Amino acid sequence: MKMSKMYMPTLKEDPSEAEISSHRLLLRAGMIRRLVSGVYSYLPLGYRVVRKVEQIVREEMDRSGSQELLMSAIQPKELWEASGRWDNFGPEMWKLKDRNSREFCLGPTHEEYFTNLIKDEIKSYKQLPLNLYQIQTKYRDEKRPRFGLMRGREFIMKDAYSFDTDHENMVKAYENMWDAYDRIFTRLKLKYKVVQGDTGAMGGKVSHEFMAMSEAGEGLVAYCDHCDYAATDEKAKVIYEISEQSTEELSKEKVYTPNLKTIDELVDFFKIDKSNFAKAVVYDVNGKGIVVIIPGDRELNETKLCNYLGIADHEIQMADEELILNITKANKGFTGPIGLAEDARLIVDSRITKMKNLVVGGNETDYHIKNVNYGRDFEGEVVEDLLLVREGDICPKCGEKMEMARGIEVGNIFQLGTKYSESLKAKFLDEDGKEQPFVMGSYGIGITRTVAAIIEQYHDENGIIWPLNTAPYHVIVTVINTKNEDQMNLAEKLYEELISTGLEVLLDDRNERAGVKFNDRDLIGIPIRITVGKKAPEEIVEYSLRTSPEDRKEVGSSSIVKLIDEEFKKAGLNY
Ligand code: ATP
Ligand code: MG
Repeated sequence: MKMSKMYMPTLKEDPSEAEISSHRLLLRAGMIRRLVSGVYSYLPLGYRVVRKVEQIVREEMDRSGSQELLMSAIQPKELWEASGRWDNFGPEMWKLKDRNSREFCLGPTHEEYFTNLIKDEIKSYKQLPLNLYQIQTKYRDEKRPRFGLMRGREFIMKDAYSFDTDHENMVKAYENMWDAYDRIFTRLKLKYKVVQGDTGAMGGKVSHEFMAMSEAGEGLVAYCDHCDYAATDEKAKVIYEISEQSTEELSKEKVYTPNLKTIDELVDFFKIDKSNFAKAVVYDVNGKGIVVIIPGDRELNETKLCNYLGIADHEIQMADEELILNITKANKGFTGPIGLAEDARLIVDSRITKMKNLVVGGNETDYHIKNVNYGRDFEGEVVEDLLLVREGDICPKCGEKMEMARGIEVGNIFQLGTKYSESLKAKFLDEDGKEQPFVMGSYGIGITRTVAAIIEQYHDENGIIWPLNTAPYHVIVTVINTKNEDQMNLAEKLYEELISTGLEVLLDDRNERAGVKFNDRDLIGIPIRITVGKKAPEEIVEYSLRTSPEDRKEVGSSSIVKLIDEEFKKAGLNY
């Protein structure tokens, strides 16, 4: 492609809306443009990268035995009512009506649709296993669309669904997908971890997330360097040593604590350690007050709470002052476990039952109570683990200390079981002629999010540094002075020669200053660079790589193809 003709609207300045590198660089490099919040167009350079990522995903999915098809983005309400997700999916679902007021959604995912597709056509165990996938645009009206392609409201996903006769075969399908994902993310050159995930609204019990490690990631991972345990912060089991507790239960005492509301203020006042406070977190679940008591030095894990309550995350919110007043008869900041209104639900993290002589809110404005003990002074629904993991917690697998890191969830795999086949009545006849529901798995990869993840891992202060196999073009030939005939002739000759070998080549023949062209080529991150300048009459050009721009060498133009071949060989790639 000749850049004089190319639609590549690069920006000189950093766009103010962009908070992370991938978002900033995709906009600056003229690869994407925003239409409205969370909705983007993929411009020519950006779309080439999207297609390359898709192609790697496609090749490995095909190799795994999955078959590609393409379903509609529009799905009728009835399908989702059958699974119970029309309401449960919550406000993330884009809903719409046709001219006859029939209701539809724009698919946020396709479990129901795939199950429905095969249910009338796959009748016998002999037709199983089956694994189908598509690469398609998904719609989710995210609460906080942000970070460019990282969290869009319209985005491209690869989604696959497996159908098996029983649990054991489904686990095989799951492991097969896991292997395919390993091959995909390895080929994409991502540094990633596979971590246990929460299954949430998806159903099923086992899931894993593929996390591209990056400080810009919205996901937090707890992992152990001593064994292979790794889990998302939502999922990670929390084990830690509770500081030594006194054996004696002291007598309960009401203490006047005017205006002391935060744990830090209380620590100053009582002169005891944070861990001896019991923190009350008050939620509103469909109008009902729920008080959760956890150790004062820990944070509550909302996902674990939702799983315990059996609700989706959009059904829970922090209680407002009015609800707090109703159930505690006190202002916010003085909630505790003793003397709550009858209709409030009291939930207690199991660690609280092992701690002694706690300070709790008094359920009376300006009062706390000290020396409170579980069992003697209050009781509630005890849940083993409602806490958010943090660095230094004990690994549930090997007992060593865990670390925390940030990551971008680029893919995940779910063992769904029979949730969808049962609710949609999708059954086959087994070997004994008995009807059985399909045992299913589902497997997603965020294609456009993966593009952003690659940039997060491969960039510097000047721009993107594309790996060779996802770069929009392999090679860029820059002409220093386009008015110079020798330079233009040699550049055109090289350009034609490289294209004819099958390489993807850009020719920067724009009538711009050399500095502008150099900046742009750094910004758009083309891996192999050739500069045609003053030594064109001798057929000498400059050769360099985006990964090490300072290593420039002068070479005869006839040796360029060989140098490029070596680069591909080093990367284990063909062109
Ligand atoms: P998240 O926790 O980030 O919201 P999710 O668990 O909702 O992700 P899935 O429903 O499993 O995601 O979707 C499969 C994949 O699609 C994810 O692993 C992710 O890579 C991608 N994805 C999900 N939501 C978005 C989004 N809003 N924008 C871009 N990609 C997304
Ligand atoms: Mg989501």
